[in-house]
Amino acid sequence: HGPAHRFVREQDVVKRHRLPVPHQLRCTTLLLSVDPFLRCRFNADPGVAYTSAYEIDAPIASAGVGVVTESKFEGFEPGDLVLEPFDAWPWADEVVLDASRVARVPRALPLLLPPSSLLGVVGQVGLTAYCGLHHHCAAPPADGDVLVVSGAAGAVGSAVGQLARRSGAAVVGICGSDAKADALLDLGFSSVVNYRSEALAADLDAALDGREVTHYFDNVGGDLSDLVISRMRAEGTVILCGQIASYDSDAPYPPPLPAATADLVRERRISRERYLVLDHKAHFAAALAEVAALVAGGELRTPETRYEGGAGGAADAFVSMMGGGNLGKALVEGAAPPPAWVRAAEAARSALPPRWRERLCRKYVTAEALAAFVS
Ligand code: NAP
Repeated sequence: HGPAHRFVREQDVVKRHRLPVPHQLRCTTLLLSVDPFLRCRFNADPGVAYTSAYEIDAPIASAGVGVVTESKFEGFEPGDLVLEPFDAWPWADEVVLDASRVARVPRALPLLLPPSSLLGVVGQVGLTAYCGLHHHCAAPPADGDVLVVSGAAGAVGSAVGQLARRSGAAVVGICGSDAKADALLDLGFSSVVNYRSEALAADLDAALDGREVTHYFDNVGGDLSDLVISRMRAEGTVILCGQIASYDSDAPYPPPLPAATADLVRERRISRERYLVLDHKAHFAAALAEVAALVAGGELRTPETRYEGGAGGAADAFVSMMGGGNLGKALVEGAAPPPAWVRAAEAARSALPPRWRERLCRKYVTAEALAAFVS
């Protein structure tokens, strides 16, 4: 299909530019992130200010982690692990990047956190969940509240559910398969509904058990969101995070609500402000430090789906993720294995008791230390 064909041409472009010039690094790709927001980059006009459309004959790119093999910039050495946290790591197994585009990952960090988490929950994904709950909401979910999250088995949704449970709220997850529902119950969700069920409305009502929804973390939109909003309490909050059900259409973002749902939102004085994580940059470093400590201590679990086969499989991985093929963060493994020092650090990490990891993380992986990853 389209993205895969285009990718093959772009691989050739990357090969022609393999020699790094001053200020550049040559790297092998360890992991690529595939994210729903990349979908808008395939349109001539992405419709958002924070990223640009992919250009014909330029590589497709996303966030990525890799290892430096040749450095033409002081401060980076061969063997260093580097991170591009957003949208500029080309989908190729070997890349040449401007050093200014990447952050060097401290050698001690993989002792406390999986490097893959930098593309997920200790990165944009965790920030989206954390800032959506704690900074976008005027009244964050708390004890006695009922939060519903759609796209619950994905990267953002699985973190939202766990963080909201930690705040004391009951959490109802909505996802696309029974296997995903079981995984979410295992993560501590209070109850889970499969939106593909023919009795979806009845299943949601059973999960709510007579309670009204106080918070709806909306990753999906469409009919599913109309249903959830119809179960919301007056003055409840919709965290309008994403509308993935409409990303393959020409609808503007966010798509207009059907009249009946719009009336209901108005009558019940439900707040439904558009949420963009990038509007909360002032909170990023502190939020990441908190999330990192929870991950290090095993209190925030980070399911991920890894697609094998190298960067050449990234286009298919992206299509799979958009269709629900992933549980947790969707990642593509580069063709090369991680270097020996990263594998040794990972082995040492799993031997450390989680509460030590959390303590060390709170001491050393501070907001200041993480600031480079989000700037
Ligand atoms: P993800 O949830 O890991 O992956 C996408 C998931 O969406 C799929 O696994 C699939 O799961 C579900 N899905 C796809 N089409 C659907 C449909 N028609 N109806 C219901 N579910 C559908 O992706 P993510 O990276 O965590 O992103 C989740 C949402 O957050 C996206 O909407 C994204 O745009 C948004 N986001 C927003 C911000 C922000 O700043 N506002 C930042 C990051 C991400 P099922 O198997 O359950 O269908």
